[in-house]
Parts: sequence; structure tokens; C-alpha cells
Amino acid sequence: MLDIQKIRADFPILSQTVNGKPLVYFDNGATSQKPQVVIDAEVKYYNEINANIHRGVHTLSQLATDAYEVSRGKVKEHINAKHAHEVLFTSGTTHGINLVSNGFASILKPGDEVVVSSLEHHSNIVPWQMLCEKTGAILKVIPINDNGELIIEEFDKLLSEKTKIVTVNHISNALGIINPIKYIIDKAHAVGAAVLIDGAQAVPHLKPDVQELDCDFYAFSGHKMCGPTGTGILYGKEEWLNKLPPYQGGGEMIKEVTFEKTTYADLPHKFEAGTPNIAGGIVLGTAIDYLNSVGFENIQAYEHELLEHATKRLSEIEGIRIYGTGKNKASVISFNIDGIHPYDVGSIVDKLGIAVRTGHHCAQPIMNFFCIPGTIRASFSFYNTKEEIDTMVDAVKKAQTMLS
Ligand code: PMP
Repeated sequence: MLDIQKIRADFPILSQTVNGKPLVYFDNGATSQKPQVVIDAEVKYYNEINANIHRGVHTLSQLATDAYEVSRGKVKEHINAKHAHEVLFTSGTTHGINLVSNGFASILKPGDEVVVSSLEHHSNIVPWQMLCEKTGAILKVIPINDNGELIIEEFDKLLSEKTKIVTVNHISNALGIINPIKYIIDKAHAVGAAVLIDGAQAVPHLKPDVQELDCDFYAFSGHKMCGPTGTGILYGKEEWLNKLPPYQGGGEMIKEVTFEKTTYADLPHKFEAGTPNIAGGIVLGTAIDYLNSVGFENIQAYEHELLEHATKRLSEIEGIRIYGTGKNKASVISFNIDGIHPYDVGSIVDKLGIAVRTGHHCAQPIMNFFCIPGTIRASFSFYNTKEEIDTMVDAVKKAQTMLS
């Protein structure tokens, strides 16, 4: 059992008022709030050990390097990677996906196929479209049903020896649907394709085990899991990371540079050109420690209660339509009210202190599928409460009365 009031006290931002009302923060899918330990760790880094890493022999540089590598080790343990050098620091999920898609430009031939799903965030669509344009490969798309679930038999039919990479999210940001990624990974491997999992929306809710999943790549962002913005991780299997060319050239990623030829550093440095977000990388480790201290089993059980409560309470509203009604869901609820634009509802509830996301959630193909301009999305975290959900339901009802 979680002591929610105690947990809420860890997050200073949650105790403020917005537009004169207590803040109800339900935009966790966009970014999570940060606990005091994370904020303190960032300040401590700059107060005590700020220096560039992997370069200096001086003490501060060594301290910063050690802290950065300790954090890499924490991530390795957290996702159960086989080696720490399979864990690359990135600026976020978008960076990780682009690193892989860019690398595949040297692998794909015209006529090869890349499989994405209809449930993807734009950052797991556009890089692959760009790759296909560059290489002459063909983009194939797994369709969804009316519940917002992938039609898995259609996925099976898309696979062939032409498939070179399959790339899907673990959890959909727009609908909260949890995808059957283990099945997808195994099926894709059976035809010799690599698999990238976009874990951006999964890591705040669960602890992925990359060895058990056997995925080739797993990308996620730190800022959605209580860590700083501009941080992220790309896990890649050693053999894949050795096969792919570097993403960016620059300092840190080389063994030796001459004008005739440059040789590249070993993993992970081959993919970490330039000065990284050192403080952010270190503090991401603090965020992971914090989440583990709350406990992912506790988080999941409690967030499930929040989702059930929200689904039940929102269903009371006449003319509501919830999108993504599949069974396997994270604590995200996307909805619309008949005849009212989602943006108008979002603006009114904001005046009442409630932060929800409105729009297409960077997933326009899903909105096109449902023939809507967007949805209102409430995404819950373990620091939210049922009372906050009741406040949101009242506010949505008020908005409906005002706008009808
Ligand atoms: N994929 C999914 C499923 C997401 O929800 C997001 C962020 N909304 C991203 C990718 C992109 O993450 P970032 O902007 O942190 O790179």
C-alpha cells in the first residue's frame, strides 16, 4: 500500500495553486513531475562536482565521470541489460530512435521493409519514413481495431524475409494501450528482423527486462520517469550496436583521428559524441532509485485503481466517448464529449487548475482512424488521487454545461 500523501510531499510542484485552484496534474504522459531528491541531486552536481567527463585527470572530472558511469550501471541493472556498454545516454526517446533509424540507412536496400504500427507517436513514424525515402525501403503499417488494439493477425501477414526492422511502442501515449511486444519481438525474430521498442510511455509504469523481452533496441526518455528533461536511454544489443555506424561525429566518439582516416571508440562512446547532459545523466539514476523505492508493483496496482475509477466516473457523463477501450491498458484515458472540441474542454478545465492534454498527442494517424481532430487525455501517475479524478469529472461536467 502506498502512502499517497507522503509521496505527494516529495513533489513540491504538486502543492501549488494554478489559476487560484489546487493544481491537478494529469499530463504525466507528456512529462512527469520531479521529486525533491531529483531536484536536489541536480543542484548538488552543479554545487559540488561539475566538470567535463571522460577527459580530465583532475579530481572533479573523475568524480563527475564516476557518477555518470555509476548512473549508467543503475540503468543497466534497472532494465537488466547484459552489459553497461549496451546502455547509451541520449537526449530522449526521439534521439534514440533517430540513432537507430539513421544507422539502418547503411543496412537497408531498395525493396526491404520496415514495419511500424498505427499506434505510434510521430517520433516512431517520421524517422522511419525518412529512412525509407533515403534507402528505397517500404514502410508497412500494423492496423488497429475500434478498441485501439493492434490487429495482430494483420501483423503476422506483414512479416516476410523482406522485413528488416519492426518498431512499435510498448504503451501507446495517445490511448494507453499496452502492446503485446513479446509476441511481436518473437515473430519478427523468426523472419530475421530486428525489433526496436519505444518504451517512452512504459518506463514510468513498469520495469522492462530487455533480456527477457529479447528486443534489439529499447528507447526511453528520462523526463517521463521523474528524471530531468533532455535525458534518455537507448539500449541496444552489443552485436547491433557494433554493426551500426556512429550517429554523430565529434569528440569522445573516436579512437584516433587523422585527416586520412578516423577510427571509432568502443561502445558506448562510439554513440556518445560531444559533451552530454552530464548532470541529467547522473540525476536520471537518482530518479530510477526513487521510483524503485516507491516500487513498480505498488505503482502498477495503484495506477490501475486510478484508471478504473476514472473510467467509471467519466462514463457517467452523457455523450462521452472513450478511445482505446482495449483490455490491457496503462493509466491513460483519452476521451471526447459529443459536439464539443477537445481544446475547449481543456481550456475550461485549465481555468479550474486541471492540467490535461488536448490535441492529437503527436499521433495523428490514430486521430485520423477515429475521424476526430484530437482527444482530451488524462494520464495518471502514482502521486495522483481519486479525489483529483473526481475534481476533473466535475470540471468536465461544468465545461459540458457551459459549451452545450
Ligand atoms: N514515443 C512515445 C510513445 C511518446 O509518448 C513520446 C513523448 N510523448 C516520445 C516517443 C518522444 O519522447 P521525447 O519527446 O522525450 O523524445
